[in-house]
Amino acid sequence: MTQPALDLVIAALETIREKSDRAPRASRVALARLQAGDPITDSSRVAPASPTGRRLQSQDKAALLTEIRERVSACTKCAHLACSRTQTVFGVGNPDAELMFIGEAPGADEDRQGEPFVGRAGQLLTRILKAMNFARGDVYIANILKCRPDMAAGSFGNRPPTPTEMQTCRPYLVEQIEIIQPSVLVALGAVAVEGLLGTRETMRELRGRWHTYNSIPLMITYHPAYLLRNQAPSEKRKVWEDMLQILERLERPISERQRNYFL
Ligand code: URA
Repeated sequence: MTQPALDLVIAALETIREKSDRAPRASRVALARLQAGDPITDSSRVAPASPTGRRLQSQDKAALLTEIRERVSACTKCAHLACSRTQTVFGVGNPDAELMFIGEAPGADEDRQGEPFVGRAGQLLTRILKAMNFARGDVYIANILKCRPDMAAGSFGNRPPTPTEMQTCRPYLVEQIEIIQPSVLVALGAVAVEGLLGTRETMRELRGRWHTYNSIPLMITYHPAYLLRNQAPSEKRKVWEDMLQILERLERPISERQRNYFL
């Protein structure tokens, strides 16, 4: 398509998006990729990252993520969560990350600080990353739900998100993944898998092997909170073996010490 024609299409889609209740069939990511001259083969889906395809530039990714973050922070689609949250918890890390982790939903610490995985489970995730030779800022971390699931007054702990809450919030995560275009996705726990793939299976069936989400390799492993509850070395080692598979897939060097490591 010639540039003036493309500009017209983009302007028309932007106008529909601003003025209508119905979203047009192209996401902002798709528009940005059209502008960048990316080949898009399917109008409902952005082509995944490929070694030959043109990728979004880092600064475009950051700008697109900022725009979604703003929409998320104003979101009231789940009225009960919009009332109970301190703030939304969008995601953190490198917009250009090769590796993206997906958790379940913010807990109390995340709700307070506005950042995913900063509580006890998050500190364990940060240690796992360090053992992989990644800093938190190298990867991207997000959740299925951007709000903390509300709790009855006087009750403690966290409740899992409901299927309806996950379906409602999922499009934000889908956009985040489309923008970041990671080489590898990691789903932490069965709830993250259900939110992402819509399938309910046991972790025993799912973890430790490669799946795909929109052609992106997806590793499924235990949620760090599970490892905090179950400190058996065998379970920790399973998670570490999943991380070793990821390092191999990313073609990262793996030292002998890393190979023999137990979390
Ligand atoms: N557990 C999650 O799944 N996500 C967080 O952000 C924190 C704990």
